[in-house]
Amino acid sequence: MTTWDEEFRQLQTEFMRGGPARLADIDEALDRLERGTAATLADLKRHFHKLAGAGATYARPQISVLAKDAERRCDELLLVQGQPSRADVAHWHEVRDGLARLFMEGQPANEGAEPPPAVATLHEAPVDSRARLDVLLVDDDPDTRRLLRSVLQHEGIPVREASTSEDARAQIDERLPDGLIVDVRLPDGAGYAVVEYARQKSDSDTLAVLMLSAAGDVLDLAEAIHAGADACYTKPAEIEPAYRKLLQLLERVQADVPRVLVVEDDEFHAAFARRVLESAGYAVDVCSLPRQFSEHMSTFQPELLLMDVNLPEISGYDLARLVRQQEQHAALPIIFLTSEVEMESRIRAAKAGGDEHLTKPVHPALLASAVAARLERARFLKTLLHRDGLTRLLTHASFMEQVQQVIDRRWRTTTGPASLVLLDVDHFKGVNDAHGHQAGDRVLATLAGSLRQHLRRTDIIGRYGGEEFGVLLDHLTPQDARRLIARLLGEFATLDHSAGRDDHFRVTFSAGIAGFEEGYDRHAWIDAADKALYAAKASGRNTVIVSGETAPDR
Ligand code: GH3
Ligand code: MG
Ligand code: MG
Ligand code: MG
Repeated sequence: MTTWDEEFRQLQTEFMRGGPARLADIDEALDRLERGTAATLADLKRHFHKLAGAGATYARPQISVLAKDAERRCDELLLVQGQPSRADVAHWHEVRDGLARLFMEGQPANEGAEPPPAVATLHEAPVDSRARLDVLLVDDDPDTRRLLRSVLQHEGIPVREASTSEDARAQIDERLPDGLIVDVRLPDGAGYAVVEYARQKSDSDTLAVLMLSAAGDVLDLAEAIHAGADACYTKPAEIEPAYRKLLQLLERVQADVPRVLVVEDDEFHAAFARRVLESAGYAVDVCSLPRQFSEHMSTFQPELLLMDVNLPEISGYDLARLVRQQEQHAALPIIFLTSEVEMESRIRAAKAGGDEHLTKPVHPALLASAVAARLERARFLKTLLHRDGLTRLLTHASFMEQVQQVIDRRWRTTTGPASLVLLDVDHFKGVNDAHGHQAGDRVLATLAGSLRQHLRRTDIIGRYGGEEFGVLLDHLTPQDARRLIARLLGEFATLDHSAGRDDHFRVTFSAGIAGFEEGYDRHAWIDAADKALYAAKASGRNTVIVSGETAPDR
């Protein structure tokens, strides 16, 4: 792993090597200027401007000072829409030659302009996020373990191994893995318990879990999923799809690293921001042409924008204003990073909906901590916006939005089953009346917790209404979904809720399930599940009914 010092020197060298190309840009602009072509003054200004910023960033202050001087004169003329005099042109030529000398000499960094300190001293996230991933293999069959170990290690993912549930638990206690592969049958009990154990210990949703079942066994997908697995495969036949799925899930774990889009036309500034932010543990994408901005936004889906102001064709402020016009980006943090220091530009940043204004050259630690603070706040706000306070499940609106996304995806790619569940607590009014509203609240939080724990993290779970919940189980048939929810009901119904020392009670729920059908929009799908829920209530509650079927499953 290279140190920040080395990284900085590397960037500095690249900057100095890029000198001739930058001078050629200036020459070309000067040439056109002398021939009287329009719009070249702005180009010339931009070239000097970039050099002024990059020179400062890469500890080449003399380059920066010279370029800034030339830029200032361009600005003055642009402001009054004046024509450059012969003295101006001569001055710019002098500056250009001075810059050439500085690039030639490889001008030494001056005293006190040491590379800024490493970001890693402030943020402990390692440079390579993949290095953090590790997988625990739990299988008593050494052949399966050897096979999986070799593919995973080939991907550069460290592997730990266990052959019994007890051993697996001990290893999970030691350190929670990012990925878990568990055989359904272990010498000292069922693998499901290991999966449940890991899920309970994991406070985030990011743990990736697969289960394996020996060929010949009845593959109980619903049971594996109930225990908290993301998927279940037959071994040895499906080892290959299994590890592919695991790699895909682990990618999502990595994708959970916050994403920062750097909008910057200057490759050296962009490289600087990328290195600083990547070494602080973020995923970084760079957009250097404003006209490609929308594409970067939709494919990378950034959680924060680091925005240069001086861009070709459109200013960073205007770009920010465009972003803010879109409702879904209303809370997206935007940090302007620019060499304009004047108060006026700060005011414009604020008007454009910018959250912060940093000035180049920016200290890496300041950049990283500004980004960290804004991201943390944005994630918190997102939780407030999309999650219900009591249950931490999706709000009604966010749940509906996600259901819509699943339907949209089906138009494009996905096929196969998907099931929608509506679940309503039985006689909940009676619970409130008999045990108090607070105890009622605790029941709702408990039910939400057990849904979260027993479903996959890819399943969409929302608080549909007061004591009503919605669950979308992609890839599950209504019959598999019914078994899963019925088992959950069985467990939930035996929980003892408490509202004081001598006040214990039990609660049940009813659920209706509808499989996705061709031509459904979200309202039709919800209606179908709602009708099934109504049928469950009518048939005496404490039961799960699939749309179009009548027999309750008790
Ligand atoms: P059913 O079995 O038919 O569903 O009967 P029910 O009593 O559960 O249904 P009803 O719709 O009549 O009553 C729902 C109750 O849920 C009424 C409302 O006071 C209560 N409720 C809704 N939201 C909350 C909440 O956030 N906390 C608490 N404690 N109660 C809530
Ligand atoms: Mg720029
Ligand atoms: Mg109810
Ligand atoms: Mg209700």
